[in-house]
Amino acid sequence: MAKNLAHLGANFDIIADARMEIEMARLLCLKAAWMMDQGDPRAAAPWISKIKVVAPIMALKVVDEAIQMHGAGGISQDTPLAAYWMHLRTLRLADGPDAVHRRQVARAELRKHTQEKI
Ligand SMILES: Cc1cc2nc3c(=O)[nH]c(=O)nc-3n(C[C@H](O)[C@H](O)[C@H](O)COP(=O)(O)OP(=O)(O)OC[C@H]3O[C@@H](n4cnc5c(N)ncnc54)[C@H](O)[C@@H]3O)c2cc1C
Repeated sequence: MAKNLAHLGANFDIIADARMEIEMARLLCLKAAWMMDQGDPRAAAPWISKIKVVAPIMALKVVDEAIQMHGAGGISQDTPLAAYWMHLRTLRLADGPDAVHRRQVARAELRKHTQEKI
């Protein structure tokens, strides 16, 4: 008898991890939005950079795992997964490469501990 995808392999773990990672990214997104609402753009900027890195990487990983769960069907056009992957991969460049946002995050961290201009 055919089994549902969720019951195959380590798919319960993949589903649980996906849900937890989505919720972690949502909380970071809410924190960035809250920081923006406080009215100090300089203080909010590193939080915006953080979510710009975290959200596309998380979404890409979740879609990638979903493709894996679906086997070769996941990369066919029978599901929207391959198209989602392509769009999300683009997002890691379109709004500036991850490395640029990471640099902003690191700069804000280092500013807490050194007077040196970074
Ligand atoms: C679909 C799509 C839509 C886009 N829409 C827009 C838009 O609306 N407006 C707009 O202005 N641009 C837009 N872009 C351009 C996008 O912002 C650039 O592609 C992106 O900034 C990367 O620039 P690049 O392609 O010249 O790569 P490069 O700048 O050559 O970057 C290549 C790699 O070098 C590294 N790197 C580059 N600069 C730094 C740095 N300062 N610090 C650390 N590492 C670095 C990173 O690893 C990066 O991934 C879009 C791009 C795409 C694909």
